Amino acid sequence: MKIAKSRKQLKKQIGKWKKKGKKTAFIPTMGALHAGHLSLIDIARKKADKIIVSIYVNEKQFGEGEDFAIYPRDEKQDLDKLKAAGCDLVFMPKKLYNKNHATKIIPQGAALGLESDFRPDFFAGVALIVTKLFNIIKPDIAVFGKKDYQQYLTIKQIVRDLDMDIKIIGAPIMRENTGLAMSSRNRYFDDNTRNTAEKLNHIMFEAAKKIALGGDIKSITDNAINKLVKAGFTQIDYFAIADSNSLEIINSHISKDKLNSCRLLVAAHCPASNGSSVRLIDNCALVDND
Ligand code: AMP
Repeated sequence: MKIAKSRKQLKKQIGKWKKKGKKTAFIPTMGALHAGHLSLIDIARKKADKIIVSIYVNEKQFGEGEDFAIYPRDEKQDLDKLKAAGCDLVFMPKKLYNKNHATKIIPQGAALGLESDFRPDFFAGVALIVTKLFNIIKPDIAVFGKKDYQQYLTIKQIVRDLDMDIKIIGAPIMRENTGLAMSSRNRYFDDNTRNTAEKLNHIMFEAAKKIALGGDIKSITDNAINKLVKAGFTQIDYFAIADSNSLEIINSHISKDKLNSCRLLVAAHCPASNGSSVRLIDNCALVDND
């Protein structure tokens, strides 16, 4: 496995592969890798000859008061995991923005609402780093987890709108045995608080099932929010049904034939081990879960 710490080293290696006609797959990450990240490598392996993973904690997608400074960083373990998973090239630049950086990308459409209501600068930060990385790496395909469902749709939209010649692939959400969606931030939990965090997916799946059976969306989501509060969640940012392509919020009854084009998305704050809280996001389809 090759490691590139600069754009120059990276481009040299990728150039060699391109000359030989190799197809490249790219997976951007912020490190602190877990089996969810590694599952993206398995998917990429089936679609490309060479796999490139970036590790970069992108300062521009963290808002004020968020966890940029303490975001888990674990370079050695990450590299061991990537090597074992069959990654071909890791890009881990020290910094990616020059001090005169002055360009913004503000995605609309799928990026509006839900996360953006609570993290207003988040998708601009994601759009910028992903566009920069796409321009540096010029991959044939890129794999994104549906764990960050709105982010996945936003990236697809950017690629389409800006005529980027990259195929975006969405990967299923990997979960712990308890159903908790894997996340680098799960490290912030101890046994007690993890127990609360694990309730989120059960409450979400239960609500999705009830809605799929034809139940009333408002009373089911209200009930689910009450359950989250009772379970110990300190703030529920959203618990919403949305169209799985446009992310338009759906409040009215969903006919049976439309169920497979709807998704439940949730963001809730869970107490963490050090007395602070972790904002968890999760989502699921209403039928045929992936
Ligand atoms: P991050 O390091 O959090 O920026 O995530 C990097 C990529 O891994 C993103 O495309 C995420 O959606 C994806 N990812 C993170 N957690 C999971 C998971 N539990 N299952 C599938 N993909 C994931």
